[in-house]
Order: sequence, then C-alpha cells, then structure tokens
Amino acid sequence: MNSPYQAPEPLSIRNPRTGEYDYQLEIHDGIDITQFTRRARRVQGTWNSSGLSYRIEVMQKWISAIEEEEEALVEQLSIDTGRVKVARLEVKSILGLMRGWCFRAPQVLQESPTRPSANNPKVHIIQQLIPYPVVGVISPWNFPLLLGMIDTIPALLAGSTVLLKPSEVTPRFIAVLERTIAAVPELKNVIRLVRGGAEAGKFVVLNVDAICFTGSVATGKAIAQICAERFIPAFLELGGKDPAIVLADADLESATDAILRSAVGVSGQACQSIERVYVEVDIFPAFLDMIIAKAKAVTLNAEEISRGHLGPIIFEQQAHKIQAQIDNAVAHGAVIQCGGQVEQIGGGWWCAPTVLSGVHSNMELMKEETFGPLIPVIPFQGIEMALQLANDSRFGLSGSVFSQDIEKAKAIAASLEVGAVSINDGSLTNQVFDAEKNSFKDSGINGSRMGDAGLLRFLRKKAILIQTATPQSIDDMAEEV
Ligand code: NAD
Repeated sequence: MNSPYQAPEPLSIRNPRTGEYDYQLEIHDGIDITQFTRRARRVQGTWNSSGLSYRIEVMQKWISAIEEEEEALVEQLSIDTGRVKVARLEVKSILGLMRGWCFRAPQVLQESPTRPSANNPKVHIIQQLIPYPVVGVISPWNFPLLLGMIDTIPALLAGSTVLLKPSEVTPRFIAVLERTIAAVPELKNVIRLVRGGAEAGKFVVLNVDAICFTGSVATGKAIAQICAERFIPAFLELGGKDPAIVLADADLESATDAILRSAVGVSGQACQSIERVYVEVDIFPAFLDMIIAKAKAVTLNAEEISRGHLGPIIFEQQAHKIQAQIDNAVAHGAVIQCGGQVEQIGGGWWCAPTVLSGVHSNMELMKEETFGPLIPVIPFQGIEMALQLANDSRFGLSGSVFSQDIEKAKAIAASLEVGAVSINDGSLTNQVFDAEKNSFKDSGINGSRMGDAGLLRFLRKKAILIQTATPQSIDDMAEEV
C-alpha cells in the first residue's frame, strides 16, 4: 500500500540578531513547483505576445504596488539581515532598477527591419527575438530582495515568465512581495515565488527553460551539471576573492577609505567585497597604520539596530567559517592588527573589522572566499609580483587598482584575470548597472547581467528567411558540369 502523501515540514528561520528561530516558512514541494511551472508556461505566450509596451505598463503597476509596501519590505528585510539602512537601500535599488529597465528596454529591444542578405540579396531576413519561456531565478541571502529581482525584472520584460526562489535563510520578505504581486492581477502566474531551500531549488532547475543563479561556487557547479544534462542555459554569478592593488603613488587617504568600505561594509557579506589587499612595499607601513586606525573606528550595531556601521553575520555557519579562517591564518604566522574575534552578542554573531599582516598566499583566508570583514594586507615589490599574487586565485569576479597614474592603473587592470576592475575605488560594480561584465574563472559563467546583455540574454535569435527569387531546383544540385 502506498504511504499517504506528507507535505514538507515548514522551516524554522533564525533571527540573526537574537539567534532565535522565530519565523516559520511553509515550503513548496516538487508537485507545487511542477504546477507553478505548468501555469507559468501556459500564460507565457500571452505575456510575450501582448508586447513590450504592455509589459512595461504592468511593470509600472508593480512598481506602484511595491512603493505601497515599501515600509513592510524594509521591516522584513531588516529582521532577516539585522540592518536597516541597507534594507532600505535594497528596496530603493530594485525600484530604480525597475524604472531603469522600463526606460531602457524599448531601446534595447528595437525591432530590426527586414533586410536583404549581404551574400544573397534575393533572400530577405527577418530577425526575431524569442524569450526562453520560463526562467528560474535562484538567489542567496546576503541581499535577499535585490539579488532575485535583478534577474527577474529583465527576464519579465524580455517576455519570459519567472519562478523566483529566494534563499531560505532570509525569506521573510517573500510574503510582502507576494502581496505586491497579488495587487497586480496581470502578474498572476507570470511571476511566482517559490519557498524553500536546496530541494525546492533543485525542482526549479528541473522544470524551467533557463536558470539565473546567484550563490556559492559549489551550488553553482551542481546546478550547472543538471542544466547541462537538461541542455538549458545556466547564468551563474558565484563567489569572489577580490584583490586590490595599491601602488606607491596612490592617494593613501582615499585608498584606505575605499578599501575599508568595500572590504567591511555589510560586514563583508557581498560577493564583490575586497578580500585581499596588495600594497607596494614603499608605502606598506603607512598604509597599514592608516587602515588599522580607520578599521578601529568602525562600530557594530549589536546594541541597537539603527546605530553602528556593521550588522551581524547573517548566516550562522558563516560566522564559524570566518573565525576558522582567522584561526588558521594565525596558526600559520599571521598577525592580527585589530579585530580578530567573531563575537556572540545577545545570540547574534558580529565581527569587528579585522586587519591581518604576515599573511601568505597558501593560507585559507587567501584561497577561499571569506564573506566577512577581514582585510589581509600583503606587501609587494614591482607590478609583476602584484599581478602574479592577485591572479593566483581560482576566483575572477572583480578587483581594484589604486594609483594616481591612470594609464598605469589601466594597464594593470587589463592584466587582472577578473570580470570588472574599479580604479581608485572598490566594488564600483554595485553602483553602476550599465557596464557589461562576465565573471571569470570559478566566479561564474555566461552572459552579463549588467548592461543591455542583462536583457538580451533571455532572448534567443531566430531568423525568418524569405526567398524573393525562384528557388533553386534539384537540377542546380546535379553533379554533371
Ligand atoms: P548557496 O549556494 O548556499 O545558496 C544560494 C541559493 O541556492 C539559495 O537560494 C539556496 O536555497 C539554493 N540552493 C542550495 N543548494 C541548491 C541546489 N542543490 N540546487 C538548487 N538550488 C540550491 O549560497 P548562499 O550561501 O546563499 O550565498 C552566498 C554566496 O553567494 C557567496 O559565495 C557569494 O559570493 C555568492 N554571491 C555571488 C554574487 C554575484 O553576483 N556573483 C552576489 C551575491 C552573492
């Protein structure tokens, strides 16, 4: 006899400030997800054929609905991430992205007129853009709303329908976002939020026609294998170990400001955080003194959520990983210049900015992503050595170069094996959305999510070929001369 169907158990969700499991997430199973996909597939033809102007109109209604719920979104994101200002910024950013794409999409998706072929002018060509019907978007916990919506918005405008599965670590905003979707009837089955963890993610990958995944390298590789088997594209945005190179002629004041902000902002829980700092030997002592002084002035928001620079380490396992990297470095001879301890305060985990010297390339914290506020500082002599150290990594997300000689900085930037380089700043990729970039090495694969490519990657090119002359006959193919 078959055992009766058991719905999956809800997940208990941890509050990163208190450590309490104070929220229950009802999750979807494979049957739900297969059904969502079927519905999304059913409505996709109409969504696409209604045209871009219609989709923009609907997107604008969704913007209004999100504006109505802005405070509720900020509140839920704040609980899950333990930070308020960044939560507010996240909501503002997605509203900006939505408006930006509504403005840009008509230019990017301009229809090209029918044209004669260059090599066979009697054949006329119509180029069409055909969206992948159902796109699956799977996102991580560090920017729970932004990193799902960043792919969802252009996919919808391209004419795809979307299954969006946010991280199960920070899912409280889902209920609010669902309300905003319900407020726009035209979005019914066009965008569907999927609740759950790895299992739900796997079912999304098994059902949809293209995947946008942001998360760890290990999960990205597992998803890529299923996508290869299913023969569907996987757009993967994965981890980083971003290097910064500081030349002797850099403006030390602004270089230390930028590196500190990029390395420890949001407690280092950003993929494009600077995680390795290479400083030209002549200025190494001055740089170290200055960054230590500035790092010591950074405060934690442990006492009060709206006071302090840094929020908690959101994901508990991450707190232990950061401490393990610090301990491993110290055991191999690194010196902690400030910080150095992941502390438990009121049930949550916080880490003060930690500057380390005496660091070597073979330490864990130089090889693996930290995702925490660590600043390992290493001296170098000569640009060749700086490049060799910076490129000695399996990651290739982004990097930085600091110098007052822009030509020299540009030459170094060109030799860095990463998809984006900020000159005289850090992490500029989170301030600029129209610079196309690919992730190099293990940091990801496939089309840029930034710039026009961020929209075009959801569209396959189709050629319609019209013969205007008499078609060739079989006699034209006969072998006799
Ligand atoms: P993760 O890989 O553990 O999880 C990411 C998402 O994948 C979650 O929604 C999770 O539920 C889902 N998932 C887990 N296993 C799955 C599976 N087998 N099949 C399908 N889905 C699965 O990553 P995380 O810990 O949530 O996020 C942190 C990572 O994200 C870091 O490595 C960080 O660098 C990376 N990240 C990258 C970018 C970027 O743009 N490159 C941006 C932000 C974060």
